Amino acid sequence: QVEEQPLIYFDNAATSQKPQSVIDALSRFYGKDNANVHRGLHELSARSTAAFEAARAKVACFIGAASPGEIVFTRGTTEAINLVAQSHAASRLQSGDAILLTEMEHHSNLVPWQLLAERLSLELRFVPLLDDGTLDLEVFDRLLDEKVKLVACVHISNSLGTINPIREICRKARGIGATTLIDGAQSAGHIPVDVRDLGCDFFAFSGHKMCGPTGIGCLYGRHELLEAMPPWQGGGEMISSVRLEGSQFKPAPQRFEAGTPDIAGAIGLGVAIDYLTELGLEAVEARADELTCHALARLGEIPGLRILGPEMPRGSLVSFSMEVAHPHDLVEFANSRGLALRGGHHCTQPVMRRFKVPGTTRASFAFYNTLEEIDAMIDILLDARRFFG
Ligand code: PMP
Repeated sequence: QVEEQPLIYFDNAATSQKPQSVIDALSRFYGKDNANVHRGLHELSARSTAAFEAARAKVACFIGAASPGEIVFTRGTTEAINLVAQSHAASRLQSGDAILLTEMEHHSNLVPWQLLAERLSLELRFVPLLDDGTLDLEVFDRLLDEKVKLVACVHISNSLGTINPIREICRKARGIGATTLIDGAQSAGHIPVDVRDLGCDFFAFSGHKMCGPTGIGCLYGRHELLEAMPPWQGGGEMISSVRLEGSQFKPAPQRFEAGTPDIAGAIGLGVAIDYLTELGLEAVEARADELTCHALARLGEIPGLRILGPEMPRGSLVSFSMEVAHPHDLVEFANSRGLALRGGHHCTQPVMRRFKVPGTTRASFAFYNTLEEIDAMIDILLDARRFFG
């Protein structure tokens, strides 16, 4: 209940709600098995290490990686992208090289590259957006020349809902020898993802957007690439031997996991994967499509409401602006009726600038939402139109 009304949670793109099985797994771990991983020889440490590594294997299987060794646990998508920037890219790119991004990137797939570009005098190039919120692929082809050493692109845009043609982008990037990094924050756990089928070198995602706990996420990296990458953070767990004058490092993925990891988080993520696998990713996707189609049709009935982004197929979210009210006022009004929406730039300020809006209001759906909740949102938005108009 929110504001004494039944909650309608349409902020799933920011973070999803958690199934009871995930909440129980966290509690069970801390209650029964809690110990640090890898370092101990006692029973609880063996249990927590086994559970932690089993979670890594589940992630590998879930996204089609060749082996668990290709999965690095991180805090989330943001940290995974920073890892690639500071380790892989920082050690391979040189002054004058270019990185190709798109205008629809989340700040977390933009700012790390800006920081690196400044440090190494790299050129950043951006694939522009067409009016329907899709990438201008003709310009992509023109921008992709031999100076480009890395292409980083979002799979599903969190502010437009656009699903990008990742397979094609990766194939073309591979054609000129560039590495690819895919931001899968809005695709992992939402649609079936197979990193080898996509043909990407790196794939980053967050557990908390796919029914898992906050604080845990993953970087998938192709084995040869991870093995060739230098450490990015130093500390315990990532070393094989340490002398005062220097150290030797473990192979990937442990080389990139300095310090005590989020053990409970990884275990919780594994349980979230079990939950989603039981539902079936195809069913999860079909349900989200049904909700999104219904929302697009019903939002289209509201006069003066502009929807950003493409027609179906698209991700399970709709960003819109209404003439009568600023997104923040709209979100506050919705909250007073028990409806959780998100208003603002959604960490994609360049997208807002491209579409000449200060921000949008975003409704993002998950499989546990209902068509009736969408109808209730429409009634609330119509009331808001009367209230502000
Ligand atoms: N990329 C996209 C497309 C996202 O939607 C988000 C989260 N809003 C992120 C990256 C960053 O994810 P996190 O904050 O979990 O690191």
